[in-house]
Amino acid sequence: MMKKEKTYYKAQSVKDAIAKAAEHANDFRYLAGGTDVIVNQFQGNEDKNCLIDITGIEELEQIKSDEKKLKIGPLVKLDDLKENDIIRKKFPALIEAAHAVATPMLRKTATIGGNILCENRCIFYNQSAWWREAAGHCLKCNGDICIATGGKKACFSKFMSDTAPVLICYDAQIEVLDINGLQVFRLEDIYTGDGINPRSLSKTALIRSIMLPLDNTYQSVFKKLRPRESADFSSLTTAVSKNEQGRIKIALGGVDPKPVVAEGDSIALRDELILKVFKKSRVIDNDYYSRLYRRDMIRVFLEQSFDVLAAT
Ligand SMILES: Cc1cc2nc3c(=O)[nH]c(=O)nc-3n(C[C@H](O)[C@H](O)[C@H](O)COP(=O)(O)OP(=O)(O)OC[C@H]3O[C@@H](n4cnc5c(N)ncnc54)[C@H](O)[C@@H]3O)c2cc1C
Repeated sequence: MMKKEKTYYKAQSVKDAIAKAAEHANDFRYLAGGTDVIVNQFQGNEDKNCLIDITGIEELEQIKSDEKKLKIGPLVKLDDLKENDIIRKKFPALIEAAHAVATPMLRKTATIGGNILCENRCIFYNQSAWWREAAGHCLKCNGDICIATGGKKACFSKFMSDTAPVLICYDAQIEVLDINGLQVFRLEDIYTGDGINPRSLSKTALIRSIMLPLDNTYQSVFKKLRPRESADFSSLTTAVSKNEQGRIKIALGGVDPKPVVAEGDSIALRDELILKVFKKSRVIDNDYYSRLYRRDMIRVFLEQSFDVLAAT
């Protein structure tokens, strides 16, 4: 069979990128920092034939604000978030979360847009092509079984973004453009919980901005569990926030195919909220740490986070 030709296209504008995406429908990826996409292509986890490079689109690199919102362009590098005064002052946990991603060199290339859309991971999937062939293909790479659970129906690859849980706790929304125009979503609403297709965005969807509210104030705590502080993906990421009205929001990463979120009106609901996210998290043995340890650590991290919020 003839191999399909590979295409690389450098988009000149948002409109241009979306038009190209529509031409290639199911067979493309937008390319931002490339630290997720290129690795997945190289390992054969992805076989899209077209890469649409959006890095030349200047409007996607900017951070703007008005009285009500801070708008972060998706191409802002993780390492550059700390340079913005408003983020430093109002959303410090976002800087901590960005700093917890990968390595210093990767953070100078990796973008925030790419981070919230980075692919779900599993120790039985993020392996070389020959490893996966030898072990037998899992559901996420066209096989017929989830190797981690032995089940046939669902893929439990883990939601990995470290910045998304914090952004969700800050009530982030995203502006998304596609061939049908502009839509705004709460960040948590774009994740499906299906490890094979983890996001519900349309095929041509391009994130135009990540919006954070400036008309509220948040206290927040971020934590990440990983074998090595230097480079590892998350085994558990937790974010907890308290807003001006005392409303609490919890978001977890690394323990389910989507961020696990719970909200309550007051810090007095602490135990109830911890129990809620603990029960919702579908933790399975697909990580370097055991399922039981990661489950225990959910409670430990959340108790510690609530102690910090209670003291402030
Ligand atoms: C060694 C290593 C360690 C890592 N550790 C971590 C970690 O600890 N935590 C973590 O969260 N991640 C980690 N990553 C994954 C990755 O580096 C980050 O998630 C990074 O932020 C991805 O950003 P990027 O710009 O490189 O995205 P890309 O690889 O360019 O893109 C990622 C996805 O987002 C899509 N995309 C990008 N921008 C847009 C847009 N504006 N609109 C629509 N779609 C878009 C792409 O099509 C693709 O599907 C690691 C990667 C490596 C190689």
